[in-house]
Amino acid sequence: MSVKENLNNIKSTLPEHVTLVAVSKTKPVSDIMEAYNAGQRIFGENKIQEMAEKYEELPKDIEWHMIGHVQRNKVKYMAQFVSLIHGVDNFKLLAEINKQALKHNRIIDCLLQIKIAEEDSKFGMTAAEASEILQSEDFSELKNINIVGVMGMATFTDDEQQIKNEFTRLKSIFDTLKSQHSEFKIVSMGMSGDYQLAIHCGSTMIRVGSSIFGHRNYL
Ligand SMILES: *Cc1c(COP(=O)(O)O)cnc(C)c1O
Repeated sequence: MSVKENLNNIKSTLPEHVTLVAVSKTKPVSDIMEAYNAGQRIFGENKIQEMAEKYEELPKDIEWHMIGHVQRNKVKYMAQFVSLIHGVDNFKLLAEINKQALKHNRIIDCLLQIKIAEEDSKFGMTAAEASEILQSEDFSELKNINIVGVMGMATFTDDEQQIKNEFTRLKSIFDTLKSQHSEFKIVSMGMSGDYQLAIHCGSTMIRVGSSIFGHRNYL
């Protein structure tokens, strides 16, 4: 099936409150344009340099989401245009995003990445660490970032019950943090293999790559 058909099939099943991020990492700009011409405007990438190159080449009404792990020294390459950074997992990174956003006179939306998976390989902070940041004075001084929710990745497993438990935990962490921080509105969870389950558990933003663009040859 074509990119357009895949996209339309997925979109036809999504509730209205769920935003689709089309994950285009490793894919050529021609694939992105196919999705763009089918109406998609939000794209996710996991490498800052790759995203910046694509940003240069592609229409400027695209919203670019950084969904991967962010290295602090590379924030400057996306500060001018990125619309949402999903993987913020420490205060120093927030401070750097704030600094670079200020240079461009922007306020950059961010999500706090929470570790919900069992695997050691997945990044993220605990609910307590997230809460501590949101309540800290240092954070209240960062005027050029806006934390609008949480992001998480479930364990890579066939055990549906485990995935469900992890998503449910992220939603409940979101609910708790939202009570302290009224700007919270996004729960970013769910990928090609588990987005239906994620929506069932309260996701408001799914990040789908291979079900739209086909399999990738590398990560
Ligand atoms: C690659 C990636 C996705 C999309 O994965 P698919 O299984 O291809 O849908 C979603 N989220 C993150 C953080 C990713 O790195």
